[in-house]
Amino acid sequence: MSELNVCVKCKRSEEITPLLRLTFKGEEKFICAQCLPLLIHKTQQLADEFPGIEIPKNTEH
Ligand SMILES: [Zn+2]
Repeated sequence: MSELNVCVKCKRSEEITPLLRLTFKGEEKFICAQCLPLLIHKTQQLADEFPGIEIPKNTEH
């Protein structure tokens, strides 16, 4: 059985959405194009998926 890669945030698989490969603390993770803006602009929403990730302090309001 082959394991499907899934988005770290929404868990959609590479069969239904293109996934981007990431590395974090030496671990390989995947994120889909829909969730990528969250990682960039709303990093705090992905703090559970990336333990220890730096949260930018200057967020837009
Ligand atoms: Zn996603």
